[in-house]
Amino acid sequence: MLTEDDARRRDAADPGHRDLFHVPPATGGRYAEVAYFAGNSLGLQPRATRADLLDDLDDWARLGVEGHLEAGRPWLPYHEFLTGPTARLVGALPSEAVVMNSLTVNLHLLMVSFYRPAGDRTRIVIEDSAFPSDSYAVRSQAAFHGLDPDRTVVRLRPRPGEDTLRTADVVDHLRAEGDRVALVLLGGVNYLTGELLDIAAITDAGRSAGALVGWDLAHAAGNVPLRLHDWGVDFAAWCSYKYLNSGPGALAGAYVHERHHGDPALARFEGWWSTEPATRFEMTPVSRPPATADAWQISNPPIFAMGPVRTSLQIFDKVGMPALRARSERLTGYLEQLLDAIRPGRPISIVTPRESQRRGCQLSLRVGAGASAGTAGGGAQALTARLRHEYGVITDAREPDIVRLAPVPLYSTYHDCWRAAQALAATIRPTGTQGGDDD
Ligand SMILES: *Cc1c(COP(=O)(O)O)cnc(C)c1O
Repeated sequence: MLTEDDARRRDAADPGHRDLFHVPPATGGRYAEVAYFAGNSLGLQPRATRADLLDDLDDWARLGVEGHLEAGRPWLPYHEFLTGPTARLVGALPSEAVVMNSLTVNLHLLMVSFYRPAGDRTRIVIEDSAFPSDSYAVRSQAAFHGLDPDRTVVRLRPRPGEDTLRTADVVDHLRAEGDRVALVLLGGVNYLTGELLDIAAITDAGRSAGALVGWDLAHAAGNVPLRLHDWGVDFAAWCSYKYLNSGPGALAGAYVHERHHGDPALARFEGWWSTEPATRFEMTPVSRPPATADAWQISNPPIFAMGPVRTSLQIFDKVGMPALRARSERLTGYLEQLLDAIRPGRPISIVTPRESQRRGCQLSLRVGAGASAGTAGGGAQALTARLRHEYGVITDAREPDIVRLAPVPLYSTYHDCWRAAQALAATIRPTGTQGGDDD
């Protein structure tokens, strides 16, 4: 039933958009291309990116400074070309979205506005399994306000024996402790477990408790449907190099709910890109910020970094998140089925929630002792190295024992999933056997 032929048939019936992307050649295994499961870390390059980027470079060569107004895509309003597609991607009003800087920088700039500890209300609530950059960011914000990070940052843990957070537990915490919470800052999809939190319910609970609620959407943007405006989310930020396929270190996105726009009482750090474009060149000493998320911009943006974001967002506009999500659920469900078929007898468990509404396209596996047979030291790192070099299957490891696989609905195939399961079955020795790695 779960044969290679069956995987090929599924691909013929449900092909995705792999032809729009460069898929790296494999250096191991018997297939020409890698089976790429690391799109949650660095998305693949759209084929259109190179020509679009060269157009922008050619405009600079041809026009020099006049390109600000006369380029095919003029540089002065360039960031505005990204606003519509970004807003559609995250369910924001166009006035609520902006592409700028990088993710952690945006989190800091947004916390300048939205982390304002006062009186007893000083705490920042994050997940215990928050990405380290987010932990460092909130700790340094607490310290910046003269607070003790150890007492200010509250880290929510799953229940003993469980791997993921329960929405009801997060909501209960906010009900019980909410009057001391200044800011809730959680990952929409957790980078490690792949868990998708109930953003609407947690936002509601946080705001009802009088806190501000922000989301790190690094693993959610381009992965799961989002309705930030309708959910009442105060602010959010995400990077564009994971599911958004905009290249290493690509520019990030930011969202600010319109209820905060144009509020003169709100602290913001400013530069000349924070002011109304029409007044930018009046060279006045005092800014006139627009009543939009653009007011959070500071510097003029790097055009050659914006280009790849623009190109990639066109793909999301063309395919649409509903279609992408539907294929994502089919593909991830199929990978889950394949993994369940090889799990009996092998030290592999699936950490990611089983319900599709509680996850995106990432499945995180916990691989037990001896998982990487025949490799000194074993462990997740050794396993991912073998998967890559011997089978051309690209996954990633989070020490000590998590291997992450993300079948990305834009470009991953059912055959990729089949290859991954084959490679894992060949590499992970069933418990109780002593022999080589092919049993
Ligand atoms: C990838 C990721 C980051 C990376 O931060 P940068 O500022 O882009 O380097 C931060 N937080 C989360 C949750 C991530 O997944």
